[in-house]
Amino acid sequence: MENCIFCKIVAGEIPASKVYEDDQALAFLDITQVTPGHTLLIPKAHCKNLLDMTAETASHLFSLVPKLAQGLVATTCADGLNLVNNSEEAADQTVFHAHIHLLPRFAQGDGLDIRFVQNAPDFEKMAELASQIRKEIDA
Ligand code: 5GP
Ligand code: ZN
Repeated sequence: MENCIFCKIVAGEIPASKVYEDDQALAFLDITQVTPGHTLLIPKAHCKNLLDMTAETASHLFSLVPKLAQGLVATTCADGLNLVNNSEEAADQTVFHAHIHLLPRFAQGDGLDIRFVQNAPDFEKMAELASQIRKEIDA
């Protein structure tokens, strides 16, 4: 897609520190290196994010995650790893070519703070919501 920075990386028009490549996917180091080894995994064919990704594309892309995660952790001597995907502006997506962030984590303070705020559960509402989601997914 024209004017897409990740399509330009796929086409070799912009340099990137590649860590994995096959005919459908590419992984390269994120320019910001939020933690050492911070990597982006992308489908080569342009799609915007998870909300327009086909199961076929996702199937190949996500099948690569364990190998990449294991390779990144081994190489950086990390203590763990987070997998992050931002889909749409509301979720902090800034580059609109689908990508998965792999973030090696270091126990002795790596400056990254991904925190889940605990809200009081309303089990009735949760049951209703789950039912609505099941219907949507089955549709
Ligand atoms: P998002 O915020 O959309 O989930 O993540 C986009 C990521 O792409 C950011 O972490 C940003 O650092 C990275 N990024 C943007 N432009 C480039 C680039 O030209 N090269 C590389 N390697 N990463 C980029
Ligand atoms: Zn693109």
